[in-house]
Amino acid sequence: MGELVRNCRLCQKQMESSPFTMCSKCLTESNRVQSFVAKHPHVSIERISNETEVPYDKVEQMVMLGLNEKDTMESQAKSS
Ligand SMILES: [Zn+2]
Repeated sequence: MGELVRNCRLCQKQMESSPFTMCSKCLTESNRVQSFVAKHPHVSIERISNETEVPYDKVEQMVMLGLNEKDTMESQAKSS
């Protein structure tokens, strides 16, 4: 139980079991994007990508997945 192999929801790479839905690399990048977007709520994806050095495609995917919200904490909320 809890040993499910999962794939990172961002880069789709297989990752070790973790409380997060993303691998550590994507987690770091999405944190960077999130804090940037928090300070600059209405910037374009292109701008976010430039400023955070996260690839454009990935930023776009984060936005699509709604990662601008605190989604990385998802599994913590579910832990009851
Ligand atoms: Zn990933």
